[in-house]
Amino acid sequence: MNYQNPDKNGYYGEFGGAFIPEMLYPNVEELQQNYLKIIESQEFQAEFQDLLKNYVGRATPLYFAKNLSEKYHTKIYLKREDLNHTGAHKINNALGQALLAKKLGKKRIIAETGAGQHGVATATACALLGLECIVYMGEIDIARQAPNVARMKMLGATVIPATSGSKTLKDAVNEALRDWINNSTTTHYIIGSVVGPHPFPDLVARFQSVISEEIKWQLNEKIGRENPDYVIACVGGGSNAAGTFYHFVNEKNVKIIAGEAGGFGVDSGKSAATTFLGTLGVLHGSKSLVMQTEDGQVIEPHSISAGLDYPGIGPFHANLFKEKRAEFFSINDDEALKFAFELTKLEGIIPALESAHALAVLEKKTFEKDDVVVICLSGRGDKDMETYLKNLD
Ligand SMILES: *Cc1c(COP(=O)(O)O)cnc(C)c1O
Repeated sequence: MNYQNPDKNGYYGEFGGAFIPEMLYPNVEELQQNYLKIIESQEFQAEFQDLLKNYVGRATPLYFAKNLSEKYHTKIYLKREDLNHTGAHKINNALGQALLAKKLGKKRIIAETGAGQHGVATATACALLGLECIVYMGEIDIARQAPNVARMKMLGATVIPATSGSKTLKDAVNEALRDWINNSTTTHYIIGSVVGPHPFPDLVARFQSVISEEIKWQLNEKIGRENPDYVIACVGGGSNAAGTFYHFVNEKNVKIIAGEAGGFGVDSGKSAATTFLGTLGVLHGSKSLVMQTEDGQVIEPHSISAGLDYPGIGPFHANLFKEKRAEFFSINDDEALKFAFELTKLEGIIPALESAHALAVLEKKTFEKDDVVVICLSGRGDKDMETYLKNLD
């Protein structure tokens, strides 16, 4: 089975596709027909690679974490996406899609954001490339994430509150889709994770795949082989994980592990562990695992980390889960917090709370002393200082 790319209709096994209102067909079909041709062109790649190197600061280091390795009796390498411009992996995708939008002749960008990280990355790309930027954000999230709202505004974006439903991420997505229907010819919708109708999951995975592309040559430089024994990443929608796994999913000898947000625990009613709690359904334009009631109402997720607080999971990952190609662990809030403090103490790196869910896998699984374990450090912890301060002892 090819785990890397979907079939021509956007399916990874039984997951994916494009479930959209008829009014969106022209936009989505335009993308489906053009995305590969454009992003694989020499002209696009030259511009994109130049920006990744000189603007984002790639390649990000693959850092051998000696102290962490000693503690867990194995060889741990951290892929330092936290060192990217704007502090996480999201800029890889936002820049790629903003560049694609320009090639498609679109001058107006819309995006949705929960914690504000994707909104900031998109506003950054739009400032750089001279595109108008509108970001939809739940009214509650706007109140919770004031620093990121300020960043987006300073970067020139218009932030529009979503006031319906629970006034959080899924409502912001609905508002963004409505906008896209009404402004189809002028506007590109930059989706922030490997979710949404085909071709978004594939498009976002390809832009993030630079993560595993770099891991391969960096490992080869350091230890003389391209493949680690394990790759580990946290999964919200799944974009940093898709990027980390991309060039390894078809390599049988590389074991793949995902850390999902368990919240207060999978049985607590306050969780975001979609592979444990989800059932087959359609969310935001694609068929995947979704946290929903028996009659299909989306269940509000909970996680201490806003970036993992999502009631679904990308079809790429749903397929890895179903086929048992990847192992999924549910990491609770307190476990993630513990590992955020531990990494800070041992290595002097304050990780994003999301990334701490990947680190916490170190306690769920026993590794051999000579195993090479690569963990994606998806972002830095600046944005989480308030939560960390509350839990300092
Ligand atoms: C948004 C975010 C995530 C979760 O999104 P994915 O699409 O699952 O990668 C993880 N880590 C950080 C730092 C984020 O900002």
